Amino acid sequence: MNKQGILVVVSGFSGAGKGTVMKELVRRYDRYALSISATTRSPRPGEAEGVDYFYKTMEEFRAMAASDALIEYACYVNNYYGTPRAYVEEQLAAGKDVILEIEIQGALKIREKYPDALLLFITPPSAEELRRRLVGRGTEDNDTIARRLARAGEEAEGIEQYDYLVINDELDACVEATHRLIELQHQKASKNMELINQIREDLKKISEGER
Ligand code: 5GP
Repeated sequence: MNKQGILVVVSGFSGAGKGTVMKELVRRYDRYALSISATTRSPRPGEAEGVDYFYKTMEEFRAMAASDALIEYACYVNNYYGTPRAYVEEQLAAGKDVILEIEIQGALKIREKYPDALLLFITPPSAEELRRRLVGRGTEDNDTIARRLARAGEEAEGIEQYDYLVINDELDACVEATHRLIELQHQKASKNMELINQIREDLKKISEGER
C-alpha cells in the first residue's frame, strides 16, 4: 500500500445519486476521506454547514480563491463551488484516499494538477431515470430542474475524459464497484515506484552475487 493517499474525483449528473453512494463508501471503509466543498449556493432543506458544504457569500468565496485556498473551483448553474486545499493535503499526507464529489470542469482541472488522480463518472442507467430522480428529490423548482437537465446534457459530452463509468442502478453494487476501482488504481505500476525500485536494486545485488 502506498503511504500517500490518492485523489478520487467522482462526478455524475445532478440527481445521479452520487452523494448517497459516496456517503455509504466512506461509512463502509475508513481509508476514505470525503472532502467538503465551499459553495455560494444556499443550503437545501436538511443540509447543514460543515456537513454538506461550507456555505459562503460571493465575497468570502472570492477571497478563498484569491488566496489559493481552493485546489479548484467552478461555476455550476449560477453558483460557485470549490474544493478547500488544507483538508485534501492533510488527508492525502495521512495516507487517506480523498474523494472529491465535483462537476466536470473541476474534474478536468484536478487531472491537470494531479495526474495520478482517478476520475470516476457515476450515471443512472438511463436519461429517463435521471429525470425521475431529479423531480422525485423535490428540492428544486421546475426552472432549476430544467437547467440542471440541460447541464447534464452538456456534461454527457465530456464523459469519455473520465477513467471509468460506474452505473448507479443499485446502491450496494455501485459502492462496491467504486471501491474496487480505487483499489485497482493503487496497484498501478507508476503508483508503486518505491517497491519497483527496491526490487530492481535487490535483483542487481542478487545477480551480482551469482557471478
Ligand atoms: P449541488 O448544488 O447539487 O450540491 O451540486 C451541483 C454540482 O456541483 C454537482 O455536480 C457537484 O458535484 C458539484 N460540486 C460540488 N462541490 C464542488 C466543488 O468543490 N468543485 C466543483 N468543481 N464542483 C463541485
